[in-house]
Amino acid sequence: MAVKGFNPFEMAQKQFDTVADLLELDQPTRDLLRQPLREYHFNIPVRMDDGSVRVFRGFRCQHNDARGPCKGGIRFHPQETIDTVRALSMWMTWKCAVVDIPLGGGKGGVVCDPHDLSPREQERLCRGWVRAIAQDVGPLRDVPAPDVMTNPQHMLWMLDEFEAIYGAKYPGFITGKPVGMGGSLGRTEATGYGLVFTLREALREMGNQCENTVTAVQGFGNVAQYAIKLIGRFGGKVTCVSCWDQVDRTSYTYRKKTGINLDELLTITDRFGGIDKAKAEALEYERLPGDAWIEQDVDILIPAALENQINAETVKKIKPRVKIIAEGANGPTTPEADAVIKERGIFVVPDFLANAGGVTCSYFEQVQGNQNYFWPKEEVLNKLDEKMTAAFLAVSELARSKKLFMRDAAYVIAVSRVANACRDRGWV
Ligand code: NAD
Repeated sequence: MAVKGFNPFEMAQKQFDTVADLLELDQPTRDLLRQPLREYHFNIPVRMDDGSVRVFRGFRCQHNDARGPCKGGIRFHPQETIDTVRALSMWMTWKCAVVDIPLGGGKGGVVCDPHDLSPREQERLCRGWVRAIAQDVGPLRDVPAPDVMTNPQHMLWMLDEFEAIYGAKYPGFITGKPVGMGGSLGRTEATGYGLVFTLREALREMGNQCENTVTAVQGFGNVAQYAIKLIGRFGGKVTCVSCWDQVDRTSYTYRKKTGINLDELLTITDRFGGIDKAKAEALEYERLPGDAWIEQDVDILIPAALENQINAETVKKIKPRVKIIAEGANGPTTPEADAVIKERGIFVVPDFLANAGGVTCSYFEQVQGNQNYFWPKEEVLNKLDEKMTAAFLAVSELARSKKLFMRDAAYVIAVSRVANACRDRGWV
């Protein structure tokens, strides 16, 4: 998202440069991996319900496909920028590599606010996005998925348009499809649950468990809601969530003593993860404008909204009690904040490991689609747990043995796998 003075792509490159130095990568490999392989910028004219035409800006970046077809979501957001999409596509490459699935990194976006678009207008926008890029994506090239403010219905409209263009059925073109239409059971839960599987392992390493912890969460959308659900099932308490809406912009909702009740809060949450103030107060929650989710006196912080939320300024507000940051969002922590977090000894489950459950389940969706045989939800979630736990343990073992910060250890594993694939293919 466009935030003054913050460029997510520069941040992604800075993180990459640190690990490239650690790995002593040669110059051609650095040059190859510092930028997306390909990127597309296009206009999408959309006929609005009142008969007028609005032109939206769309993007797709394919960062690297040495380990398999590119894979990554499509965001709808009013402040979407090409540099955000570039950064996210790069992080997707590392994410697929750290959980060791045979996919590369891609990302897409449209500069729009779906709050202002009717369902028919959203459908035309989805179809227009596909028409603009259909020649350059596809099951064996680049496979899109949902992301911020896009959902399974958007994916189905996109699939339908792609199949209309090519005149055949291509369920592997896109993931995050509705269940019953080629989607996988468990995909909705996958990112939030995957995050909590890694959090459970982090706590285990510290000799602790979820039931003794209190957590504050930024965001109350897909990732946050399912993370909160599983924390609740593991006996943990979440006292604070935060969200964005058109009136207050950012706000946080909390109940310190008993913690929030997820099911109750969901009854007053809109489909974009915004919480209604009056209804929250009627249920005896405090709901205040601002970003003080980060200032809560808790054991665990879960940023699960957007990038650049824990930065040089906000990191100072983190209370001494905080022992773990499990990153649900992509790029929530800047390198400046990371330095402070390292210094303070806070354990970080880094974004591209913690939130890899979504793409892992998208990969399961592809596998099931290719077999044309769909697994029960329990099987999907068990396989997800296995994959996330194995990835976490590999990273934490490397971190311990080489005395690396968790983020650096995750980068070392992911970047080496991708660099080796580029080398093995003879690209560098
Ligand atoms: P979502 O659209 O379902 O929810 C986003 C939530 O964040 C909403 O509650 C919104 O109100 C809140 N929000 C937005 N801006 C905010 C701000 N400035 N302050 C506080 N709250 C704010 O999105 P999601 O799918 O839950 O994704 C959240 C993050 O996780 C994104 O960074 C996304 O890229 C990342 N992610 C998502 C998935 C997935 O499968 N959904 C997978 C990997 C990573």
